[in-house]
Amino acid sequence: MLVKLNDVLQGTIAGGYAVPAFNVFGYEDAKSIIDAAEEMNAPVIIATNKVAISHMPIEILGPLLVGIAERANVPVVVHLDHGKDYETVAQAIRNGYSSVMYDGSSLPFEENVATTKEIVKLAHAFDIPIEAEIGSVGYSDPSLGISGQLTDPSEAKEFAERTGVDALAVAVGTVHRMENQSAEIQYDRIEEIQSLVKVPLVMHGSTGLPDEDLRRIAGMQFGKVNIGTAIRMSFGKTLRNEFNAKPQAFDRIELFEKPMQAVKREAIHKMKLLNLDKFKTERYQLIN
Ligand SMILES: [Zn+2]
Repeated sequence: MLVKLNDVLQGTIAGGYAVPAFNVFGYEDAKSIIDAAEEMNAPVIIATNKVAISHMPIEILGPLLVGIAERANVPVVVHLDHGKDYETVAQAIRNGYSSVMYDGSSLPFEENVATTKEIVKLAHAFDIPIEAEIGSVGYSDPSLGISGQLTDPSEAKEFAERTGVDALAVAVGTVHRMENQSAEIQYDRIEEIQSLVKVPLVMHGSTGLPDEDLRRIAGMQFGKVNIGTAIRMSFGKTLRNEFNAKPQAFDRIELFEKPMQAVKREAIHKMKLLNLDKFKTERYQLIN
């Protein structure tokens, strides 16, 4: 079922788990991730970044993902990742997204506050939860020229209070698009942010986190954990193996079968690290 971001964030902090937001680019990866969530009997967030919506227009991708989410028998959030401006966020809301992010993290503080406030007003007018970013999570590829800036805890507090965001992305040591799990996050900074900020926190660039850190942050104030590269790598690498193993094959449905299974396995692996087994148990106890 399609649900809003706040519906799945509720309970993450008290429950000691976090909900992953997996970046998807179309039907195959989205479907595989929902399959994983159904197997785990746990909620999940499917997110589309700038690359995804420039490849497939939001008017097509939005309804496609909403359709997949509505058919699922677990709670699914369809989320806009790193919305770049008012118009993109408005477009996502018009096309059925049940959660949006506006990223003004590259702007000076006051400008980020002012722009985010405007966009929060828009999202809340349509009863859609919104995430924004303070500090800036950089990118591992130096050619992109986005180096990042660690979040200042007192700025995070002021930003969250003045903008009224529902979830706050913070930069505490990860970077986007890392291909190995070697990021080093600053727990003292996280503790300080947690003591000042009330809303659930969001970790970006989480492919770079070692398994033990994923487990540890799931028990902290992080409610949403973004994972993109790990999923893209499992799809792409398995697809390459398929091409090599079947040089005569040309049918995409046949070629996509194993990559889709690989995405599902990877998603389940990450969901277990984020303590979503715990969610399953708690909900089971609740129903009974
Ligand atoms: Zn991000």
